Amino acid sequence: MLKYVCPDYRIKSLFDLSPKWLKRNGYMKIVVDIDNTLLPRDKNLVGPRAMTWIRQLHQQGINVALISNNGGDRIKGIVRQTGLGAVMRAAKPLPLSYKRIVKGMGGGKILFVGDQLLTDVLGAKISGLPVVWVQSLGGKEHFITRCTRKLEKFLINRLISSGKMPKERVL
Ligand SMILES: [Mg+2]
Repeated sequence: MLKYVCPDYRIKSLFDLSPKWLKRNGYMKIVVDIDNTLLPRDKNLVGPRAMTWIRQLHQQGINVALISNNGGDRIKGIVRQTGLGAVMRAAKPLPLSYKRIVKGMGGGKILFVGDQLLTDVLGAKISGLPVVWVQSLGGKEHFITRCTRKLEKFLINRLISSGKMPKERVL
């Protein structure tokens, strides 16, 4: 069980994921979770730093797409601001949306990035895809997420005590 919630990489912030590292490791396609990864869940505007990060990745030829379990006007607005392709109401960790986005990006080596072990990481690992776990931006979460965060905390401790959790790095 533990291996399905164990990320391949761990970073503190999305901005610790550099175009240089992605290119060096052959990740020319990445999928980024929206809420509490790209921007806090209680914000509507993508910050200038995130917009710059997306632009820098594009300039290096890296294809970026967004994924979210949420939908509606707020998420649509965020997707519009970035101009990126996206899968909304993704139902992570179910593999269907991962399959859909992988197909939409033309397959190949795709890296997933997200802040939740029980959705982002679990879904990617079930689907056999590499995943970066990023520290949550801490925006107010859905009540279901607040419940699963308790289980997540337990799993994080298990991963750390078993020596499986990757060290937080700047990539
Ligand atoms: Mg999230």
